[in-house]
Amino acid sequence: MSETSFQPRVFSGIQPSGDLHLGNYLGALKRFSGMQDDGMETIYCMVDMHAITVWQNPEDLRRSTRELCAGFIASGIDPEKSILINQSQVPEHAQLAWVFNCVARIGWMNRMTQFKDKAGKNAEKASLGLYAYPSLMAADILVYHATHVPVGEDQKQHLELTRDIAAKFNHDYGVDFFPITEPVIEGTATRVMSLRDGTKKMSKSDPSDMSRITLTDDADAIAKKFRKAKTDPEPLPDTVEGLADRPEARNLVNIYAALADMTAEQVIAEYAGQQFGRFKPALAELAVDRMAPISTEMARLMADPAEIDRILTRGAARAREITASILRKTYDIIGMVGPAV
Ligand code: ATP
Ligand code: MG
Repeated sequence: MSETSFQPRVFSGIQPSGDLHLGNYLGALKRFSGMQDDGMETIYCMVDMHAITVWQNPEDLRRSTRELCAGFIASGIDPEKSILINQSQVPEHAQLAWVFNCVARIGWMNRMTQFKDKAGKNAEKASLGLYAYPSLMAADILVYHATHVPVGEDQKQHLELTRDIAAKFNHDYGVDFFPITEPVIEGTATRVMSLRDGTKKMSKSDPSDMSRITLTDDADAIAKKFRKAKTDPEPLPDTVEGLADRPEARNLVNIYAALADMTAEQVIAEYAGQQFGRFKPALAELAVDRMAPISTEMARLMADPAEIDRILTRGAARAREITASILRKTYDIIGMVGPAV
C-alpha cells in the first residue's frame, strides 16, 4: 500500500548497544548502502537514546557509537551521499517522541513483543524508556517524513505501530501531515538466528558471545563460532522444504545464501547431502571473505575518532535542516505556541 504523496525518503537506525553482528549486517547494513546507491535520499542513524533504555557503561557507549559510525561507513555508507547521524545530536527526535507519547495508546505498547522479550520476567523493573521505545522509534522515522524503512523482521511490529501513530495523529488533527511509512524487509536474511539457539534471533545484547559472529571477529573466531554452532546430526537435505523443521540448519543455509548473494535453493543445490563438517568450514570461509574488508576498514576509521566526531557533527547539522521545520510544523498543528518556521 503506498497511500502517501510524500517524496521517497529512507530512514533506518542501529543501536550502539554492543558489537555489530552478522544479523545487523545482512538484515540492515548491507541493504542500507544498496538503497543509498540506488539514488534514494537516505538518512542513517546511530540510536544512542534507544541504547540507554537498558544500562550501558558510559565508556562502552562512547566507543560503540563511534565504532557503529565506522561500521556504517565501512559497509558502504558515504556520509556525503547519506545523512549519517547520532540520535542524541538531533534533539528533534526526542521532542517529537514526547508528542507521540501523547498520541500512542498504552494498549498499543502493551502488545509490543520486543518489550516483553527484553524486560523478561521482571517487567516492573524495566525502564520507562524501554516501554516507550517504539514511540521514540516512530519519531526517529517521522521527524524526517521518511517513507521507507529497511529493517530486519524483528522490527516489523514497531513499524506497524509507527504507521498507527502517524494515522492517529493525522486523524486527530484532521491533517495529512505524516506519511504512512513502508517497512522494507527483504532478502534471505531478514531474521538471522542465534548460533546457540535456532529459535532466538542473533542479538547484540545476547549474553553469549558464541551466539553471534561480529564484524570485529577475526578469521579464527569466525571459524570457531561456526564450528561450534548448534546443528542437528542429519546431512543437508535435497530441497529447501527439508529445512522446515530444522531451524539451526535453515539458519546456516540462509546465512550462506545472503553472504553469497544466492537463493537458499541454489545453496541447497550445491550442498545437498553434505555433512555440516563440510558445510560449516565453507560457510566460515565465505563469511571471512565478505567481512574481513569491513572489519579492516572499521579498524582504520577507529584510529581517528576525531574524524568520526566531525562526520557526526556535520551529519547532525544537515539533519536539522529537515527536522527543525517538521517539528515546528507539528507544534503549529497541535497549537503549541512558538516562533514561525
Ligand atoms: P539489541 O540486542 O541491543 O536490540 P540488535 O542486535 O537487535 O541489538 P538493533 O540495533 O536493535 O540490533 O537493530 C538494528 C537493525 O538490525 C534493525 O534493522 C534490526 O531489525 C536488524 N537486526 C537485528 N538483529 C537482526 C537479526 N538477527 N537478523 C536480521 N536483522 C537483524
Ligand atoms: Mg534490537
